[in-house]
Amino acid sequence: MRWGIYIHIPFCRQKCFYCDFPSFAGRENRMEAYTNALCREISAQGTFIGSRQEPAATVYIGGGTPTMLSMSELTAIVCALRKAFPIAVDAEFTMEANPGTVGAGELKELRELGINRLSFGVQSFDDALLRRIGRVHTAAQALEAVENAQIAGFKNLSLDLMYGLPGQTLGQLENSVETAFSLGIQHISIYGLQLEEGTVFARQRDMGRLVLPSEETAEAMYDYMTVSLPQHGYMRYEISNFALPGFESRHNLGYWQDVPYLGLGAAAHSYTGEQRLANITDIDSYIQLLAAQKSPALEEEKITRKIAMEEFAFLALRTTQGIDKKAFETKFGCPLASVYREAIHRMQEKGLLEEKQNHVHLTRLGMKYGNIVFEEFML
Ligand code: SF4
Repeated sequence: MRWGIYIHIPFCRQKCFYCDFPSFAGRENRMEAYTNALCREISAQGTFIGSRQEPAATVYIGGGTPTMLSMSELTAIVCALRKAFPIAVDAEFTMEANPGTVGAGELKELRELGINRLSFGVQSFDDALLRRIGRVHTAAQALEAVENAQIAGFKNLSLDLMYGLPGQTLGQLENSVETAFSLGIQHISIYGLQLEEGTVFARQRDMGRLVLPSEETAEAMYDYMTVSLPQHGYMRYEISNFALPGFESRHNLGYWQDVPYLGLGAAAHSYTGEQRLANITDIDSYIQLLAAQKSPALEEEKITRKIAMEEFAFLALRTTQGIDKKAFETKFGCPLASVYREAIHRMQEKGLLEEKQNHVHLTRLGMKYGNIVFEEFML
């Protein structure tokens, strides 16, 4: 059975103003101890499942900012992974990287280490906007990072961009997207700003100091990107993800297609197909638990049949392919229609869902108002 590995590196140089991911600034002094603990967890998990699994099809090192770690630390992690787990020779091996945290020499070393896909957090190519959202890099550094990655031999590069940012205009978004088109990259993720509690932006909102684009502007931004990316060959394969044909993120597709994954590192989540596990988030506690040879898994959630059906449906609906009816029936022993006939009918009537012979998928309008559909699929 196909499966993937996710590794979490929870360090960042500075906390971006919109970010509520489990990542921490000012903890550089724990990076070495964290790397040692992570390698310990990798080898313990590898001993447990390594001999019983077929090779991992994808590996994704995310964060946080993995490129905050030194090359020797990253090398130790990748070597530990290769020693502990069978990894397919043609595995997609992604690392997230932030411009300004990785130089030409390091990119070359990462390529030599076997990383074959990089995902750069860029968000915008506008310097004023980058400062406004708390990014640590400039547009020039982002351009340089992409160019250096290409020189280093990476042929599968992704950029993250954002829209709906404070003070952002449609023109600024267009410039950033046009710049991305000019770089010869293979994959673009575009996320709308979400105001998450506990972030700098949430505090600014509470103090009345956050001015966001109007609803019409945000909608015009959404419409612009959903039209312009496919026009430039980047086909939408998930609500926020666009790729040249053949460059869809295999790892992330796994999350939406019910593929099991093993998460390693502080705050990492795992999914076995029947159970979800979450590791402890606090870096020091994670290090201490591993030093004491204890499991860092804090929470275990047994997935009931009802939850499994809901998740299967609304995760698959995020992709343009939608729900695979046969896969649903194979997993649950009953046809999709026997559970969701009415929901499908209601959403079809609203023009949000389309049913084909083998799949049920969101329409273009449904992609825009996905949350309405996802709610319908809650049992
Ligand atoms: S670099 Fe990424 S993980 Fe780190 S604070 Fe910014 S958005 Fe969050």
